[in-house]
Amino acid sequence: MSEIILKGIPAAPGIVIGRAHIFGKEDLDVEKMPINDEQVPLEISRFEDALIQTRQEIIALQRKIAAEMGSEHGEVFDAHLLVLEDRMLIEEVISKVKKEKVAVDFVFSEVLKRYANVFARIEDEYLKERISDINDVGRRILRNLLGKKRKSLSDLEDEVVIVAHDLSPSDTAMMHKNKVIGFVTDIGGKTSHTAIMAKSLEIPAVVGLEIGTEKIKNGDLVIVDGSSGLLIVAPDPETLKRYEVREEKIKGQSAAFASIRDLPAQTQDGKLVSLAANIEFPEEIPSVLLHGADGVGLYRTEYFYMNRRDLPTEDEQFEAYKQLANSFGDKPVIVRTMDLGGDKFISQLNVPKEMSPFMGWRAIRFCLARPDIFKTQLRAILRASVHANLRVMFPMISGVEELRKAKELLEDCKRELKNEGKYYNEKLEVGAMIEVPSAALTSDVLSREVSFFSIGTNDLIQYSLAVDRTNEKIAYLYEPTHPAVLRLIKGVIEAGHNSNIWVGMCGEMCGEPSLALLLLGMGLDEFSMPSASILEIKNVIRSVSLSRAKEIADEALTLLTGTDVEKFLQAKLKEILPDIYSA
Ligand code: PEP
Ligand code: MG
Repeated sequence: MSEIILKGIPAAPGIVIGRAHIFGKEDLDVEKMPINDEQVPLEISRFEDALIQTRQEIIALQRKIAAEMGSEHGEVFDAHLLVLEDRMLIEEVISKVKKEKVAVDFVFSEVLKRYANVFARIEDEYLKERISDINDVGRRILRNLLGKKRKSLSDLEDEVVIVAHDLSPSDTAMMHKNKVIGFVTDIGGKTSHTAIMAKSLEIPAVVGLEIGTEKIKNGDLVIVDGSSGLLIVAPDPETLKRYEVREEKIKGQSAAFASIRDLPAQTQDGKLVSLAANIEFPEEIPSVLLHGADGVGLYRTEYFYMNRRDLPTEDEQFEAYKQLANSFGDKPVIVRTMDLGGDKFISQLNVPKEMSPFMGWRAIRFCLARPDIFKTQLRAILRASVHANLRVMFPMISGVEELRKAKELLEDCKRELKNEGKYYNEKLEVGAMIEVPSAALTSDVLSREVSFFSIGTNDLIQYSLAVDRTNEKIAYLYEPTHPAVLRLIKGVIEAGHNSNIWVGMCGEMCGEPSLALLLLGMGLDEFSMPSASILEIKNVIRSVSLSRAKEIADEALTLLTGTDVEKFLQAKLKEILPDIYSA
């Protein structure tokens, strides 16, 4: 096989060379095995056994879920059981085994593919949705035929590069304890939560390869170049050599940055900013400390609710937040209340599917509608706030009414805790994320109601430019440097400063060296990013004066297009740090 180079979207930097492991569709690729006449009845009974076994598995699963979460949650499996009883499908498989004299695994996988194709062409949305039931049950039957256990990303045996059509944030969340050294997907954008998770876990990743992953087979040697967004399949010896050299260079660069770990993030003319980390799991604490963060600027607590059947209790959350706060001593740790919805779902809440989940029942909107769940979290945060330097912020605030409602619930929780004789920090600092254009445009009003702002550009960009952050087809329109985005950011920083509150950013853009230069010049006080980016950004900040950064920002704001701003900033970065950025 000769080398193939595929171009996607860089999701998490770094280079990794390894063997491909196809995830999610591996079971449907079955080898065609001819059989003789005597083997036909054997194959048919193997198929019948697999159907019985699958039925037992589904019923057991259904009972378990109904017992733990209520019978309505078990009902989804009724559709799976119906697929198992589909006489047409069963008879088609049996008659093909008899006629074509081929092992049943192959016949079944072919029939399954044909069914899925037929359903995919149907206009009716409800029937279209049945594809996932058919595929789900089909994979189960195949696994039973092949005697394989259900594969999960948490039980891989060897170090591999995961190749998938798509990975949900909860799939990615399971990678942190296992052998995934890199991953690539067909779909997704730079700030989809799957990509963000890869950065946090420091796993090089490329997303948005479109149909690229179809060109890869299990076990292929691949290079994931997460910095340039390239995937190289079956690399030539020269390419391999070139990448091994680049891998070494990246390692050398990281070692050089490590020397500034304990130095302040201070410009050459003395302006001190804070460089904090974004985290998804408390397990990331050692890495955050290793990269010399000035605290945690964003803890995405919704991951607490994922990959489990129940909801986390108040005590469980209290212990986790307390431990997190204590790990950072007097450095601030900002807990963001849960931001469910968008591309992050949890099955135990049984939230109905929406047409536009990013514009729908998400984050604070969900929390205000479900005070029972929200208050459990708020009480846990309040109780943990007596420890170290914990702060709280609300996501997806779209206006002052919503902010006030969230703060009222926080006050209710304080009253409850007081009555119960439980402690909390009376002065707990409350912040608002500014990630909806309406919040950015009313930030002067919001700034009077909170202690700080954290600009969530991942969402602010998608909402202000009307570009779905997870859609690879329109990724070219997702421009952090678009003049509209820059004006919104500038307005938020000014509004915050006019009310004497500090303004931070926890969107991915502040972890990009050229953009950090611009944001520094715009007056941003706190930069919160995946911990692996912190030292590189610290190096940029320490290499420039605030006055120079201001001049750069002022000029960038006069430019007319996102592309012009980007080119201009790249050129300035090269002037400031030619050794690193000119190569
Ligand atoms: C953001 O929107 O910029 C943000 C930090 O929140 P999230 O990425 O979790 O939506
Ligand atoms: Mg957001």
